Amino acid sequence: MRIAIAGGTGFIGSALKEALLKRSDEVWIISRRDAGARGPVADNRKPDARLHNVTWSMLEDEPSLLEGMDAIVNLAGESINQRWTAGAKKRILDSRLSSSARIAKLAHALEHKPSLLIQASGIAAYGSSPDAVFDESGAMADNDFLSNVVRRWEQAADSVPAGRHVLLRTGVVLDPKKGAFPLMALPYRLYGGGRIGSGKQWVSWIHIKDMVRLILFCLDHQRIRGPVNACAPEPAMNDEFGRAIGKAMGRPHYLPVPSFAMRVLLGEMSALLLDSQRALPRKALKGGFRFLYPDVERAMLDLVGRK
Ligand code: NDP
Repeated sequence: MRIAIAGGTGFIGSALKEALLKRSDEVWIISRRDAGARGPVADNRKPDARLHNVTWSMLEDEPSLLEGMDAIVNLAGESINQRWTAGAKKRILDSRLSSSARIAKLAHALEHKPSLLIQASGIAAYGSSPDAVFDESGAMADNDFLSNVVRRWEQAADSVPAGRHVLLRTGVVLDPKKGAFPLMALPYRLYGGGRIGSGKQWVSWIHIKDMVRLILFCLDHQRIRGPVNACAPEPAMNDEFGRAIGKAMGRPHYLPVPSFAMRVLLGEMSALLLDSQRALPRKALKGGFRFLYPDVERAMLDLVGRK
């Protein structure tokens, strides 16, 4: 297959790129900066002939480079892991709307439209609730910053002409070295781990290996379309989630952090830790996807290297 990944230089994109190359797919990474400007590759591997690095502006000069793409995976967007100042909020939203609009424009210019668009999205699509269970049939919320971003980002994907659309409503993606997990594990490393707030808020999460496998599954299974919850089948309450980190690391789970302290420290962004989202991957499971890490205990053992 020929797959283009916008934002393919990031955390999920680089893991996806490796998996696609491993199964001999051709990969086009779309970035704001050219590969040379991103600096030398960290290892000494020979350049892979199936890997192409292009910038948005190269494509805008020559959209036909995307001719014959089987799929475009859109992961591009400003990180939400920063203080949500007015400027940051604008960048978080605008970067997503403009990436989708750029992809739509490029795809419109192609003689043969891509068969598939996979766009990242978030489980913030459903808002936050202490007890509701969110599957793909649930209504979208629009009552806080993130749910508004996600709703508009998914709407922007509608303008991309492609045979099939998949919207990956993703929970927090866990990797031993990248993304949120190293920060979550830090207090435990320092013997200061504990629940955050009431500890009763649901955390919907997915192991990076399952995230990549799920994207490949969506690429390969024509019947999967529309919103797809990208999260493990067993979400955990924050208290249970933290306890599992502590257990896997052989560290105590005892020092609670009150909600107000998180709000003072992180401002509105504290919603990422205090809001409750219990999302289930009904569509993936019904479609036959099997998770390597369905529960938090198994995932934590792998993440801390104690499989
Ligand atoms: P990263 O931040 O690691 O990568 C995103 C990529 O987007 C970057 O590599 C960058 O590529 C590009 N980018 C960054 N800022 C901008 C900007 N201002 N304008 C345009 N492009 C930009 O994200 P992840 O890999 O962690 O996540 C991929 C997508 O999935 C994101 O949109 C994220 O919101 C979403 N998601 C991620 C979750 C997670 O836990 N990681 C959870 C839920 C959703 P370059 O510099 O090469 O242009």
